[in-house]
Amino acid sequence: GSLLAATGLRKAYGPTTALDGADFSIHPGEVVAVMGPSGSGKSTLLHCLAGIVPPDSGTVTYAGRELTAMNDTERSALRRSEFGFVFQFGQLVPELTCAENAALPLRLNGVPRGRARAAALEWMRKLEVEEVKDKRPGEVSGGQGQRVAVARALVTGPRLIFADEPTGALDSLNGERVMQLLTEAARSTNAAVVLVTHEARVAAYSDREIVVRDGHARDLERAV
Ligand code: ADP
Ligand code: ADP
Repeated sequence: GSLLAATGLRKAYGPTTALDGADFSIHPGEVVAVMGPSGSGKSTLLHCLAGIVPPDSGTVTYAGRELTAMNDTERSALRRSEFGFVFQFGQLVPELTCAENAALPLRLNGVPRGRARAAALEWMRKLEVEEVKDKRPGEVSGGQGQRVAVARALVTGPRLIFADEPTGALDSLNGERVMQLLTEAARSTNAAVVLVTHEARVAAYSDREIVVRDGHARDLERAV
């Protein structure tokens, strides 16, 4: 079965229709790129899929449960236990060390400090940023910060990772490295990835592309 399914998603902001019909499904372990020009509705789609923004109509179903029918408490519990997030700018907490940042989602889920730290360091090692564990985000490079953000996204063992332009603030070499490590890490845990990008080079890491144009999201089946 599918892990995440969208049917008839629509969302308007005042007179602006951001999303006008999104129908597709994502299977466990699949890396799916959501592509399209700026303003086409990619971020709105991602926010609706992740249960951050409620659509005006349509449904999102995650693992057989209708996300769009849940209340805020149920949705945020689901996000914290099942989803991981990576944004364009790492959005690391500047006052915490990189290891504390990577451990944060586990701490918020009530995991004791020592176990959370051990899991964070394990992911930081796999993402080749263990050496910055005691540094603050302001003391590391952009590439290192994004790899810490990927460690943070993976630390809870999510089934689904949402990545919104995760390499948008990086040069191409660091961007490629982040994509390589992100997709390797996701595949090693069979997590699916929804990757929003406008760069073909980044989308090349996906199994499949969904193209968004003027709010329409269209599934382009591609040979893997
Ligand atoms: P993309 O991620 O592809 O750049 P967005 O989903 O951000 O596209 O935006 C789609 C359309 O919806 C754009 O016209 C944008 O200006 C509009 N939009 C997005 N978010 C808001 C908002 N919070 N308020 C008003 N308009 C918005
Ligand atoms: P990466 O390839 O991960 O982006 P770099 O080669 O850019 O790393 O950086 C190498 C070293 O320089 C790192 O140990 C990092 O701490 C430091 N560094 C790089 N950029 C910055 C920055 N903007 N601010 C502080 N330190 C930085």
